[in-house]
Amino acid sequence: MTRMNPLFERNEQFARTYTPEGLGLPTAQAIIVTCLDHRVDPAIVLRLQLGEAPVIRNAGGRVTQAVIDDIAFLGYLTEQLSGGQGALDTLFEVAVVHHTQCGTGFLADPGFRRQAAEATGLTEAALEASTVADPHTTVKADVERLLAAPQLSPKVSVSGHVYDIATGRITTTVDAQYPQPRP
Ligand SMILES: [Zn+2]
Repeated sequence: MTRMNPLFERNEQFARTYTPEGLGLPTAQAIIVTCLDHRVDPAIVLRLQLGEAPVIRNAGGRVTQAVIDDIAFLGYLTEQLSGGQGALDTLFEVAVVHHTQCGTGFLADPGFRRQAAEATGLTEAALEASTVADPHTTVKADVERLLAAPQLSPKVSVSGHVYDIATGRITTTVDAQYPQPRP
C-alpha cells in the first residue's frame, strides 16, 4: 500500500502521451532556486515545461552550500553539453525566488527555533539560516551570497525575485548580474 496510488494514476495518464527527450541544455537558460512549499511549484507558477529549467528546492529557497555545489556542477555540465569548456560566453541565469507567508518565517522566533532544534536534532544556526521572514531581504542576501561564492562560474548570472502567495505574482527584487571579476 502506498498513498502515492492516486498520483500514480495521474502518471499513467501522463505517460500515455509522453515523448522522451535526450539530455540537452535547459531551453529557458535558467535555473530556479526556490522554496519546497507546495504552494510555490515552478512547474505551475512559471508554467515550466519539461526540459526548460532545472529547479533546486529547499526550505525557504535559501542559497546554502549544497545549492552552491549543485549550481557549480550544473555549470560544468552545461559547458560539457555545449561542446566543452569555452564554447559558450554565458551559461545560464540563476533565479532565486523567495515567497511571502513562508513557513520558515516561524523560525525567526527564538523560542520556536529552540523547540524546533530540540525536536529535529538540527542546530539552531542551521534553522536560522533557513528562515525567510521578509522575502525581499533574504532574496537580496542570497543573491549576494551566490555572487560571492568562489565556485560560481563568471559565466553565470544571478537574479532575485519574490513570489506573492496572495496574488500569484512574481516581482523582481534584484536584476540579473554577473559576479565581480576576481583578482
Ligand atoms: Zn517557503
